[in-house]
Amino acid sequence: MQRPAGSHVIAGVLGSGTGPEQQVVDPSTGDTLWTYRADTPEDVERAIDAATAAGTGWAGATPAERSTVCQRLAAELEGIAEDLAQAETAQAGKPIRLSRGFDVPGSIDNVAFFAGAARRLDGMAAAEWSGTHTSTIRREPVGVVGSIAPWNYPLQMAVWKTLPAIAAGNAIVLKPAESTPVTTLMLAEAASRAGLPDGVLNVVNGPGPLTGEALVGSPRIAMTSFTGSTAVGRHIAALAAANGTRLHLELGGKAPFVVFDDVDLDAAVRGAVAGSLINAGQDCTAATRAYVHRSLFDDFVSGVADLMRSVRLGPTRDEDTDLGPLASFRQRDKVAAMVERAVRDGAKVVTGGRIPAGALAVGAYYEPTLVVGADQGSEIVQDEVFGPVLAVLPVDSDDEALALANDVPYGLAASAWTRGVFRAQRASRELVAGTVWINDHIPIVSEMPHGGAKGSGYGKDMSAYSFDEYTQVKHVASDITGLARKEWHDTVFRTR
Ligand code: NDP
Repeated sequence: MQRPAGSHVIAGVLGSGTGPEQQVVDPSTGDTLWTYRADTPEDVERAIDAATAAGTGWAGATPAERSTVCQRLAAELEGIAEDLAQAETAQAGKPIRLSRGFDVPGSIDNVAFFAGAARRLDGMAAAEWSGTHTSTIRREPVGVVGSIAPWNYPLQMAVWKTLPAIAAGNAIVLKPAESTPVTTLMLAEAASRAGLPDGVLNVVNGPGPLTGEALVGSPRIAMTSFTGSTAVGRHIAALAAANGTRLHLELGGKAPFVVFDDVDLDAAVRGAVAGSLINAGQDCTAATRAYVHRSLFDDFVSGVADLMRSVRLGPTRDEDTDLGPLASFRQRDKVAAMVERAVRDGAKVVTGGRIPAGALAVGAYYEPTLVVGADQGSEIVQDEVFGPVLAVLPVDSDDEALALANDVPYGLAASAWTRGVFRAQRASRELVAGTVWINDHIPIVSEMPHGGAKGSGYGKDMSAYSFDEYTQVKHVASDITGLARKEWHDTVFRTR
């Protein structure tokens, strides 16, 4: 990975923060890849100044002009796709196959989508609703957006935050996670080359409590857009509430995987392993709890265990590696501790549950793990693990499966597995989640929204829904009578 020449981008200039030193570590080896200085609240203020100064001009650009810049950005990213994949793999510990096949192309597709969305401003038709005015709808940018992103999909999250904001004519200050800033800086540099005016996209870096709070706590930003844990999201919501700042929250998930008794078992087994292990389980929509009809329980568990055992952990740059490390040693230790507590509370590990020894011991690796015997109310079933861990619970009826699936504080994603059309319809209706898959789990597309219900937050990423959230609607009412004496004045003073 090439080290960035600076750690922030403010007003189009790649520079360095003035705060404490931060390190970017390769979680597959423990090697320090890059040391940089964090941005202080003063650095963040400069970034907000730059966004404020650039915002008016960019808001005045035509949709076609904004679209052209986004199209050029997609081409720029295409041109550095391999560098992006290498950097993502290095800083986040992703197998190179995942970075090349999912993170980078998915991000580029999202940029291309918002190039199109920039040219589409929906609203009600103009009409004389009052009889005496023509009403029109203007869809306008919100202003300066302060965004915070997590470390699990650094490039994708940066794109999901940035593109709808700039396509809609806003300026943005974005803070990625302190541990994975590299591809976000590459995105900002690519945006400059694509012709995005200086100051429209600013990137600041550093720890959440220092750099992030200075950003989202600022009364000068018009909107906060946050993706991360539910706990931090609630803290940020309180900061936003103090300033009355508009809020977009994408928070944690605990996706259920519901297996009815008429399922294609092979498809469900494969879906459960892929859906729980993608990105080493550090995916907010990952399958984390499978509710399986008791008649299939043993076969499902043994099928998943066998397939999990065949998944190859290995060096992230090896094309044959299926599963890399967790994104940090801290995250690996958190996952290991949760599995240990589950076992202490009576659950049984069918496969995995260990930090691998040997050559992989230098990295933050954790084995694919299958847990049975956990109670519905236990931590491993209720809370986010954010690691390669699947808990499987038996159920005796469709009613029970759907009730338990909904019985957690989260509501980001869910899947149901069945050959029955009525069961599929019922599950898609009754599962409380922002996304419900039928006979699959994980695939996303730029055209469709991603976002949660309940403790998973509100606000959608990707799709036209996301674009809308970065705009505000203005009603313009133009008098068509030309009269000085208007009938309604009578409610205030007698018209003479
Ligand atoms: P965190 O909530 O800890 O961090 C997310 C971001 O918030 C990071 O940039 C972090 O900075 C920053 N942050 C932390 N504390 C503060 C603070 N006090 N003020 C301002 N910013 C702060 O989550 P993780 O990084 O652990 O990410 C994983 C979480 O994100 C999981 O819960 C996952 O479910 C969720 N997620 C949700 C998605 C969704 O679309 N719903 C998508 C992806 C992840 P830093 O790390 O630099 O300290």
